[in-house]
Amino acid sequence: MKMITIIPVPAFTDNYIWMLINNGYAVAVDPGDANITINWLEHTGLKLCAVLNTHHHKDHTGGNARLRELYRIPIYGPAKDPIPTLTHSLVDGDTLTIDEIGISLRIMEIPGHTLGHIGYIGENFVLCGDTLFSAGCGRIFEGNPSMMLNSLDKLAHLPANTQVYCTHEYTLSNLRFAKHIEPENLKLRQYDMNAISLRKQNLPTLPSTIEIERNINPFLRCCIANVALAAKKLYGANPDDIISVFSALREAKNNF
Ligand code: ZN
Ligand code: FE
Repeated sequence: MKMITIIPVPAFTDNYIWMLINNGYAVAVDPGDANITINWLEHTGLKLCAVLNTHHHKDHTGGNARLRELYRIPIYGPAKDPIPTLTHSLVDGDTLTIDEIGISLRIMEIPGHTLGHIGYIGENFVLCGDTLFSAGCGRIFEGNPSMMLNSLDKLAHLPANTQVYCTHEYTLSNLRFAKHIEPENLKLRQYDMNAISLRKQNLPTLPSTIEIERNINPFLRCCIANVALAAKKLYGANPDDIISVFSALREAKNNF
């Protein structure tokens, strides 16, 4: 059996609709726009067999209704987010098997950006929606800092070589902030140069990996002395309190 391929279909200004492809079938992850998905399916000749949602925001679910009606496919998503177009609701620890493309995905609840946000974990990858971004994390719209930090911590504990598929191309903007926090981080600076060159060629900076994010993402590094001290110096955080450090960084990034 062939391995699945995962490719991005750009939507809106900076969204990616990730497509999981195998055996002539495709699964669309967070199709915010039905037309873009339909055009891509016609262009590639692949058959859509399911939709996966990570959370309820419109830029992730806006295409659900039309795709469901047109292709009669199941729409999977989080039980704890309000998404009226779902056909199947998922909770933490569930396993979702999609026979057409030959994969099993484990569901992990990662609330904070929204209260019901979930991630889909495959053998060597994670679809993490708007929770973890490369060099950054999602805004805390519905949860609180300790909830979000706990979710990011769960993701950070996935195997180092796990490929990270986020829904937005926010990497360069996140890196500007990350460099402000850790100007001396060599791995961060190397990654930044590489990301700038990819964007110049109009290529995605994603997927990242958990190992990269552990090394460069300030929101996964709140317990590292340099990060905690920068949060203290720049934003008055208590460096001995990881939630204070994380909150200060998240706040600061909102206005950076
Ligand atoms: Zn969102
Ligand atoms: Fe989004």
